[in-house]
Amino acid sequence: MREWLFKNRATDWEQMTNLPKALRGDLAENLRLWTTEIVRHTQAEDGTEKLLLQLADGGQVECVLLRDRVRRTICISTQVGCGMGCVFCASGLDGVDRNLTTGEIVEQILRLQHLLNAEERLSHLVVMGMGEPLANLDALLPALEEAHRPDGLEISHRRITISTVGLPASIERLARTNASYRLAVSLHAPNDELRNQLVPINEKIGLAAILKSVDNYFAVSGRRLTFEYVLLADLNDDPQHARQLARLLSGREALLNVIPYNPVAGLPYQTPSHARQTKFRQILEAGGVRVQFRHLKGDHIDAACGQLRRSQTSQPVVELG
Ligand code: SAH
Repeated sequence: MREWLFKNRATDWEQMTNLPKALRGDLAENLRLWTTEIVRHTQAEDGTEKLLLQLADGGQVECVLLRDRVRRTICISTQVGCGMGCVFCASGLDGVDRNLTTGEIVEQILRLQHLLNAEERLSHLVVMGMGEPLANLDALLPALEEAHRPDGLEISHRRITISTVGLPASIERLARTNASYRLAVSLHAPNDELRNQLVPINEKIGLAAILKSVDNYFAVSGRRLTFEYVLLADLNDDPQHARQLARLLSGREALLNVIPYNPVAGLPYQTPSHARQTKFRQILEAGGVRVQFRHLKGDHIDAACGQLRRSQTSQPVVELG
């Protein structure tokens, strides 16, 4: 069954033709293979595809397939909503409803794999969808193992990235139990005062504790750390922020992913001008930081986390497939 599901991309029991016919009949009668329903499938010209899945209890989550040359990256969710409350993010606007189960996480992976052509193969997996992955490690880790196993999707650990707001206790747990994944930490501010405003959960944590736990993760895993920084006009994009950020990251084996803000309907935040972005980048580079600007793909299909789910109720989306 594993081979049919993960290797042969089967979509129902009937296709598993080397199982006895009677067994297939029994399975079809007694076991639901899929617990989610695709309620929306959107597709952008750059090859990005996004699914909005409805769970058995009516909750909704998003997951995305990104195509970049030979790379086929999928981005999956771990919770319905999010409890971290980052002020600019669509996923957390209404808080968190519940954790996803391991099965619901695996199902996103398989549903996205079904979007591929026969000659395409999933190469990378990022846990950057809705929710805070480190708040649901118990369900997430077994799901990632399914993606990794030789009889699963065979995605190597270093091609699996977990993105977190930065929960030190969970980062330490990950360092103790399974430090083979790449970790991406969402910083968004170079000091606690500003971070408390943008990422309210930071008040209970603080940058020092986060950096201590990620330095330890790096020491144990040897995997280069990634930090993410959503660039918001007139909030965290000042040259002074760039200088402070360069000081904070100096001496660390790290990559900084700067993500120019992808506007969310109904929120007042804006993307900085091109000139402002360039200036920010130059200061970081001059400060010795390895920096990459990540321009969101498929933004006109609301590919940033939580946007498609919200748009169900607020604005129309082009529907395909
Ligand atoms: N809870 C995890 C995963 C969140 S999604 C985390 O905090 O890392 C992955 C990244 O997208 C995070 O860095 C998040 O802050 C960022 N993000 C959220 N909304 C965004 C938006 N509208 N534009 C750009 N980036 C956004």
